[in-house]
Amino acid sequence: MYPLPEMPLDKALIGGEWVTTELTLKVEGPSHGETISQIARCGEREVESAVLAANKAFSGQLGSWSSWSARRRGKWLMDFAAAIDNDHNRLTALECADTGKPMAQADGDISACARYFRFYGGAADKLHGETIPFENGFSVMTLREPYGVCAQIIPWNYPSQIFGRCVAAALAAGNTVVLKPAEDACLSVLRLAELAYECGLPAGVLNVVPGLGREAGATLAAHPGIQHLSFTGSPETGTRVAQAAARHHVPVTMELGGKSPQIVFSDADLDAAIDAVVRGIIQNAGQTCSAGSRLLVQEEVAEAFLSRLVDRFSNLRCDAGEANADCGPLISARQKSVLESRLASAFADGVSVLAEGRLAETAPAGGHFVVPQVLVDIPDGHELLREELFGPVLVVQCFEGESEALAQANATDFGLCAGVWTADGGRQLRMAKQIRSGQVFVNNYGAAGGIELPFGGVGRSGHGREKGFEGLRSFTRIKTVAIRHG
Ligand code: NAD
Repeated sequence: MYPLPEMPLDKALIGGEWVTTELTLKVEGPSHGETISQIARCGEREVESAVLAANKAFSGQLGSWSSWSARRRGKWLMDFAAAIDNDHNRLTALECADTGKPMAQADGDISACARYFRFYGGAADKLHGETIPFENGFSVMTLREPYGVCAQIIPWNYPSQIFGRCVAAALAAGNTVVLKPAEDACLSVLRLAELAYECGLPAGVLNVVPGLGREAGATLAAHPGIQHLSFTGSPETGTRVAQAAARHHVPVTMELGGKSPQIVFSDADLDAAIDAVVRGIIQNAGQTCSAGSRLLVQEEVAEAFLSRLVDRFSNLRCDAGEANADCGPLISARQKSVLESRLASAFADGVSVLAEGRLAETAPAGGHFVVPQVLVDIPDGHELLREELFGPVLVVQCFEGESEALAQANATDFGLCAGVWTADGGRQLRMAKQIRSGQVFVNNYGAAGGIELPFGGVGRSGHGREKGFEGLRSFTRIKTVAIRHG
């Protein structure tokens, strides 16, 4: 275990000040199953103050955010990115202890967080409206304006990355933020927010209200003082949050789950495909919305590909985050028991294990480990083929030709990502156009996180886009100005 930073991890950050709450929550480190910290348990009072502070910061009554030019905001974001880089090792250790993810993955997440601030810092003064050729005697333009107070509710699986994705884009566009991180992992978010103020962010521009979803989260989603809401989490909670926001006609971006296929055709580069298929499911112990959790493999190469997969999975090891093994623990005992009971019911339905990894001998007894596994013999239409498991579990189906591959790929209500592995250019395009998902990767998977690439789902995976310029635009609204001058 690494020492935690000396900072008020058990407080909320409201109006640029650390605020003590009446109640706190225990935070458990998933690698060891021991309490590592306390966090604030915010309720109505704290959420109310945070929305008020963000509103004042936006309107210029608190701090001076509203008077900052786009260029100045962009410069601040880039300076903040440099500060994250300077604090990289401490943030990485914090993320690793709090989420249990292997150190190398936590390291990548903190780098990605800094990249979001650099990318949106550079983009802040390149976002503009248009002029429209209308009737003679008129000049018509569109202005891109920030919404105002943006509420952001984020999950535990990638706290620092999702902080970067949501906060950087919202601030670059000139908004202020009230962020509700997840109760299971939010320590890196608290340190990032502290760092933002150390870098000179005006008071109230970023407010963090840790706590339970049904308390702080539900109060924030239903608050009449927010003007935009970004939610990342499960489809079920997303529905509740969207319903609450709809009462005040607040626009929402929903980043929900996925059941993304990796489709391997017989003409694919199998060496490249095997690496991406293994990485796509074990990253963050499979607790990734965009995990490639289904393998669809063409019959002709199924035997060859699956034998490589058996080889790779048999060599995978699970251990504590700081041991930097292939796979860390699941986030909590609850997630582990939900996954194990779903697997037990799948085995009762005839599903079998083709290959599995092992626990390292050094793995702590209290960690919430589930070994990576490959499942076969899955009955048609089984829930394992349609529903997210959120663990390091890859399910396999075989197909004969392109149309069967497409039918299998689209046989779920989710639609977040897909990987297509084939050397045939025509097939690459046909598949990319017909797969029902927000992103399609051809002969790669995930594009190393792709901060620049618009990301979001269709169907039960959600709506709206984050990342890239699309993500920045989604934090603005258009105002049309029509001037009649004769
Ligand atoms: P969750 O929906 O339980 O929680 C997400 C956030 O919502 C947390 O901060 C939680 O406290 C809060 N919350 C819970 N109940 C709430 C309520 N009633 N009102 C307001 N807020 C509430 O999801 P989770 O278990 O934290 O995360 C796992 C899910 O998130 C998976 O389905 C995964 O696929 C999805 N996810 C999606 C993305 C994406 O970008 N698409 C990224 C990460 C995770």
